[in-house]
Amino acid sequence: MTEILARTVEVTRTYGSVTALDRVSLDIHAGELVGLLGPNGAGKSTLVNLFAGLRRPTSGTVELLGGSPLDPARRRGIGVTPQETGLPPALRVGECVDFVRAHFPGAVDRGELLDRFGLADLVKRQIGGLSGGQKRRLAVALAFAGNPRLVFLDEPTTGLDVEARHALWDAVRDFHAAGGTVVLTSHYLEEIEALAKRVVVIGEGRVLTDDTMEAVRGLVGVHRVTVTVPETPDLPGVIGVEREGDRTHLLTADADALVRELVLTGVPFSGLEVRPTSLEEAFLVITGREPQPA
Ligand code: ADP
Ligand code: MG
Repeated sequence: MTEILARTVEVTRTYGSVTALDRVSLDIHAGELVGLLGPNGAGKSTLVNLFAGLRRPTSGTVELLGGSPLDPARRRGIGVTPQETGLPPALRVGECVDFVRAHFPGAVDRGELLDRFGLADLVKRQIGGLSGGQKRRLAVALAFAGNPRLVFLDEPTTGLDVEARHALWDAVRDFHAAGGTVVLTSHYLEEIEALAKRVVVIGEGRVLTDDTMEAVRGLVGVHRVTVTVPETPDLPGVIGVEREGDRTHLLTADADALVRELVLTGVPFSGLEVRPTSLEEAFLVITGREPQPA
């Protein structure tokens, strides 16, 4: 078995009457690239913040590098980019990178770090004058400054344009290829799909699925096939039916197969529409709740 770098055991975290995490048990093994996927409010940030020692659990235990995440010695082995970062606006980019690097005995090379995150041209710029995307790149770069074994990236590409997003994905892949362990969150299936091998689907504070990307794609890759039919045909592979006026929505993981079946029944239908459901809708299907018509 590979070493476990981070672990939660039956962790619950509440904020007043809100249960952000509900008895979550999760192991992160050395060398993994784990995606935490879930809609807004699912509990992803809370989980990352607990791992990184930025929050404490209400109950249950969190372990980081074999000890407590509150121990500064353990925290030196990790890098974190929280979802919200407040970087000092008066500091220059280079100063900020140096400040963070100074906290780590084995910090990465300054120039290399700046290059890797496309920050070399911004070294002398004050953080307060950067664009949102530039600030985000800096915040993500800082997670790697201390040459960590394990990084937590919470919605790392928020506010980045396509090119910057792909450059950041490359940086994450390089870190992972060199043996680094990564936990990243996203509410975009596309981002998790681009990076993660293992996907932990989180909804309403609970782990709904913990599986390979291939398996999860089948679960959340739900399509909505909409037709006007006299009555709802009984078809294989339908995981949800909604009627809206004279329109019938059929939810399925395999829209092609469903349309073939529909044609074979000979039922007169019109106005065929096929479109992917949102991640939120897919979650409602996974959790067995009634999806609302979009
Ligand atoms: P995600 O990152 O998946 O969007 P969060 O972990 O941020 O989810 O939030 C999970 C739940 O906990 C949400 O209902 C959110 O409103 C609530 N929550 C998170 N942080 C706080 C906080 N500091 N105070 C009160 N409620 C919070
Ligand atoms: Mg979040």
